[in-house]
Amino acid sequence: MLSIEERFDHSAYVSMTMEFRCNLKCVHCMIEGTMDYLEPQSREQFEELLAYNKAHKRWPGLILTGSEITLHRDLSELAKAAKQSGFQHVRIQSHGMHLGKLDYCAQLIDSGVDEFFISVAAADAQSHDAITQVQGSFNKTLQGMENIDRWEHTISITNTVVTKKSYKQLPQVVDALAHLKNLAQMEFWFYWPMSGKDEKTLLAPHLEMLPYLKEAVIKAQALGRRVEIKNFPQCLLGEFKHLLVNGQPQLFIDPVFWREFEKNGFYQCKHRESCQSTECLGLNSAYIKNFGWEEEILTPQANS
Ligand code: SF4
Repeated sequence: MLSIEERFDHSAYVSMTMEFRCNLKCVHCMIEGTMDYLEPQSREQFEELLAYNKAHKRWPGLILTGSEITLHRDLSELAKAAKQSGFQHVRIQSHGMHLGKLDYCAQLIDSGVDEFFISVAAADAQSHDAITQVQGSFNKTLQGMENIDRWEHTISITNTVVTKKSYKQLPQVVDALAHLKNLAQMEFWFYWPMSGKDEKTLLAPHLEMLPYLKEAVIKAQALGRRVEIKNFPQCLLGEFKHLLVNGQPQLFIDPVFWREFEKNGFYQCKHRESCQSTECLGLNSAYIKNFGWEEEILTPQANS
C-alpha cells in the first residue's frame, strides 16, 4: 500500500474516463457542451490498461472518472478487476450523491474502491443546489461523504470549483466538512471556461478571491487537511505558493477533449519570459478578456 504522501503523488496514478453522462447540471461544468459526443474509454481499452499495468507495474493507483462515474452500471466490476490486476488503490471521481445510499457505498468499497474524489460546489444546501441546479444534491453529497467516513481505510478528497458564485464561501466549505475524519485533502480549482470567452460570467478577479482562498487554506490546514490549489497565479499566493499543483495523473480520454481544452489559451502572462515558475499556468484568454493582463500585480518568480 502507498503511504499517505504517495497517495497524493499524481505520477503514481492513471485516470480512465469511463462515463460521460451526468445527472447534475453544474453551472460551471466545463464539458457540458462536449459530453454528448465525447466517447468514454471502451471496456477493451480498460482491459488493455490493466494488462499493461500488470506487466509493467507502472502505476500503483487507478482513477475511474468521467462526467459522473457512478452512473456506470459496471463500476463495481471495474474496481474489482483493477484490484485483481494489481492496482493497490482505486479512486473514483464523483459528485458523491449516489454514495448517500449506504448499500451502494458499501458495495463500491467491498469491490476495492478506497479513495473518493468528491465535488462540493458550496458550503450549504441552498448555495450548492443553486450551482448544481438539482434540489437536494448537497444533502445527498454530504451523506455520501459521511458514509465513506464509516470505513477506516478510505480517504476522501474534495474538489471545489471556484467561481464568482462560490469564492466567498470557501472558508465555510471547510467548516461544513470539518467533522469528516477521513477527508485528507481539499482542492480549490479556479474555474476556466473551455472557451476564449467567459460566456457564463463566472470569472472573478484574482485579488478579489484571494482573501477567501487564504482563509480557507488556513482553516483546512488547522484541521490537518492537505490543500491543493489549481489555476491561480503562483506569484499571488505568497506563503501558500507551494500549494499550487497543476499537474494531474496521466489521463486516458477521447482525444477530441484536448481540442476543446486548447480553447482556454493557458500560459499567457506578460512576465512569462522572465518568470521561472514551472507550475504556474499564467492567465487564460477569457480571464485576460475580462480583467486585462494584470501585469502590475503579477511578479515574476525566481523559481517555482
Ligand atoms: S508572473 Fe509568473 S507566477 Fe505570476 S502569473 Fe505570471 S507566470 Fe504565473
